[in-house]
Amino acid sequence: MVVQSKKPSTSVKSVPSKTAKTTTKAAPKSAAKPAVKTASATKAAPQTAPKTTAKPAAKTTATKGNLANVSMLLEKYSNAYGVSGDEHRIYKMAKDDLNGCVDEIQEDPLGNLIAVRRGSKTGPTIMLAAHMDEIGLMVKRIDENGFLKFAKIGGWFDQTLLNQRVIVHGSKGDLYGVIGSKPPHVMTAEDAKHPVKHTDMFIDIGAKSTEDAAGMGVEAGTYVSTDREFKKLANDRVTSKAFDNRAGLVIMIEAMRRLKGKKIEATVCAVGTVQEEVGLKGAKTSAYAVDADVAIAIDTTIPGDHPGISKNDSALEIGKGPVVTIADASGRGLIAHPTVVKWIRESAKSKKIDVQLGVGEGGTTDATSIHLTKEGIPTGTISIATRYIHSPVEVLDLNDIEACVTLVVTAAENAHKYFSKKN
Ligand SMILES: [Zn+2]
Repeated sequence: MVVQSKKPSTSVKSVPSKTAKTTTKAAPKSAAKPAVKTASATKAAPQTAPKTTAKPAAKTTATKGNLANVSMLLEKYSNAYGVSGDEHRIYKMAKDDLNGCVDEIQEDPLGNLIAVRRGSKTGPTIMLAAHMDEIGLMVKRIDENGFLKFAKIGGWFDQTLLNQRVIVHGSKGDLYGVIGSKPPHVMTAEDAKHPVKHTDMFIDIGAKSTEDAAGMGVEAGTYVSTDREFKKLANDRVTSKAFDNRAGLVIMIEAMRRLKGKKIEATVCAVGTVQEEVGLKGAKTSAYAVDADVAIAIDTTIPGDHPGISKNDSALEIGKGPVVTIADASGRGLIAHPTVVKWIRESAKSKKIDVQLGVGEGGTTDATSIHLTKEGIPTGTISIATRYIHSPVEVLDLNDIEACVTLVVTAAENAHKYFSKKN
């Protein structure tokens, strides 16, 4: 979910795209966090994997098979890195996971993944869209002492960035870094009053000079992501970075897997979009190419169920079912098409899935780009209520994910009753 600003984003300079030609590393085989690679040929300070990150406890809570399955997928995808414009790792993983349950997979010129599962000749085409990118940072320059100054990629609250550990994706391998700050002992009373601005922050990778950092493969344009791992909380709730929107991506992938072998009328195009967090960009080009009869964006949204937020900010809660958006960004984003809402709600009802209705004021999704494509595409959004989005400690309830997978599968099976193929 992108933060909706009142004026159109102007900072949409193209970022160095590694998508097209980069030789992607194989997706991690296990659910464990990908090891941070050391550039063996350099004199870089030896990087060791953090010792304190224990493996998830072997005992899993009493969960249904499906819940364990979506949990594993979500762990794999949220631990992986893919800041806007640098989604190639996520692309590769999704491609591997979708292989075998769709008829074709293509990459478009912007890096979107378009996986097509063909239905009958007369059935409508559904576009499912889940963005693959996560918010992150990008190196702007290396100072004379080897500290990295950075730009924000996507909607961060600056305070969230302070004192985070990060992964710097240098050209010679990934490096650990920390976003450092002045200890409280030496802050003035005035310092302590104001949140630190990201422009006053820096990343410490242990380098001693500009040349030292450059020798490790860091330069302007190097991507940086937050270093956080998936962990289980109580009551089927989990935490990690990037649930926005690996949650949506996992739902889309799992729904395509479960559709395998089912005979359905509709053709389903599952699109993993790029650069949602920086202006809903991948959705724009992929929607044009897919030219669907109906579309659903799958994303995360904001619940109002924890301290510091009220039910007036959001009536949604985690664990209460998928959220069917009625309107977001006060209508400046998406006002969902009534037939799409009816289709989704009736599909949910047919499987006894509780849904929540979402009316939001401050954020939007790929659906906003998609519904304005060509002559207009009836579009809706299904979201997972996720606490603390746009932080490295997002929290969601796995039962919402599992219910949403069933909902998407059911909607795909029912689509031909509500929508027909264009001409
Ligand atoms: Zn977002």
